[in-house]
Amino acid sequence: MDMRFSDADLAFRDEVRAFIADNFPPELKDRSLYSMTRDDLLAWQRICHEKKGWAAPNWPKEYGGTGWSAVQKYIWNEENARAGTTPTNAFGILMLGPVLCAFGNEQQKEYFLPRILTGEHWWCQGYSEPGAGSDLAGLKTRAVREGDHYIVNGHKIWTTLAQHADWMFCLVRTDPEAKKQRGISFLLIDMTTPGVTVRPIITMDGAHEVNEVFLENVKVPVENLVGQENDGWTYAKFLLGNERSGIAGVARSREAIRKLKLMAEQESVDGEPLLETPGFSRKLAELEIKLDALEMTELRTLAAESQGRGPGPESSILKIEGTEIQQRVTELALEAVGHYGLVFTPPGPEAEAPAIGPDYTRGVAQRYMNMRKTSIYGGSNEIQRNIIAKMVLGL
Ligand SMILES: Cc1cc2nc3c(=O)[nH]c(=O)nc-3n(C[C@H](O)[C@H](O)[C@H](O)COP(=O)(O)OP(=O)(O)OC[C@H]3O[C@@H](n4cnc5c(N)ncnc54)[C@H](O)[C@@H]3O)c2cc1C
Repeated sequence: MDMRFSDADLAFRDEVRAFIADNFPPELKDRSLYSMTRDDLLAWQRICHEKKGWAAPNWPKEYGGTGWSAVQKYIWNEENARAGTTPTNAFGILMLGPVLCAFGNEQQKEYFLPRILTGEHWWCQGYSEPGAGSDLAGLKTRAVREGDHYIVNGHKIWTTLAQHADWMFCLVRTDPEAKKQRGISFLLIDMTTPGVTVRPIITMDGAHEVNEVFLENVKVPVENLVGQENDGWTYAKFLLGNERSGIAGVARSREAIRKLKLMAEQESVDGEPLLETPGFSRKLAELEIKLDALEMTELRTLAAESQGRGPGPESSILKIEGTEIQQRVTELALEAVGHYGLVFTPPGPEAEAPAIGPDYTRGVAQRYMNMRKTSIYGGSNEIQRNIIAKMVLGL
């Protein structure tokens, strides 16, 4: 594997860097996600789409994607992380878009894909249920065909940002008699349909990020079925592979470690910068070594992808390592700021208020609490270990 960038890659990197410098709204730089509105969260995607057609790096060009090589996507992620831009809206761009490109029919592609790109439609993911998380194929939400509609009844949970969503891609059971993976279908549900109720769940960091979604006799047109009835498990797995690779977040962790080092340079122990104390510097070094190793794994995955392979079970490795590193960064940040880690700032406009203590201490406690989620969502890390044991190690 050749690890060097070609001259063309370096020219592309300069173009991306200049585009971000000229176009990313400075007021959104490093803004806390806790204080952002739906429009704030979509602003950068809209600019990328309108000015360059760069909203969807992972879609084929014919559907409004960039058609970039794996290396170009890598550079794009690196440069965005370095500049502290708003992360891509995962549900439409990273998750549903590729499913529709691969399995959607022409009308679905024509109607939904452009609306994802412009940010007109915000999507949420209706997979998990109270009794079906790790055992996702055990889901019970039922869709019964009546003429040209499905009637959907069920209860989804942990639905991220459903309060902003116009649409939900949803796994439903269409054949209760079949083996459990065989009787599932992939439906697109308009959130304004009568019978859809969204109820907030407030997490321990005080944020309203996840929800319950109740579906009571929701009438969904048959044309909103993606692919074949009862084949939804295939599309669901395809989507999860993309979701897990996307969670790795190497570039953003690199940036978070850079900020952690600045913090540890300013904090001191007995007059010595925390960064230089043997205990803390060892932990930081261990973290950076892990991140370097993860980066190599990501580059290998990208190289395989550019040859038309993957993402396969290796996306589980990226998910585990990526999320453990993200959590570790927030643990070390909490350790670094000491008693300022006790300060709790409620989400909303106050998240942008001046910090009690040095500015870098703002939001450290919330980020620590919030990042506990990463080893759970997208399929818990224990489940990813099971996948690796089975699919990679053949145990
Ligand atoms: C912040 C957040 C956002 C989320 N967003 C969404 C979303 O937008 N849409 C959506 O559909 N879902 C979402 N999820 C749900 C997420 O995918 C599930 O929480 C996850 O799959 C785990 O399922 P569970 O919570 O039901 O836990 P369970 O499946 O009940 O698991 C409980 C514990 O047991 C362990 N466990 C279970 N089975 C095994 C096994 N076979 N071997 C070893 N250990 C096992 C698990 O690892 C876990 O630690 C989100 C979750 C969180 C925390």
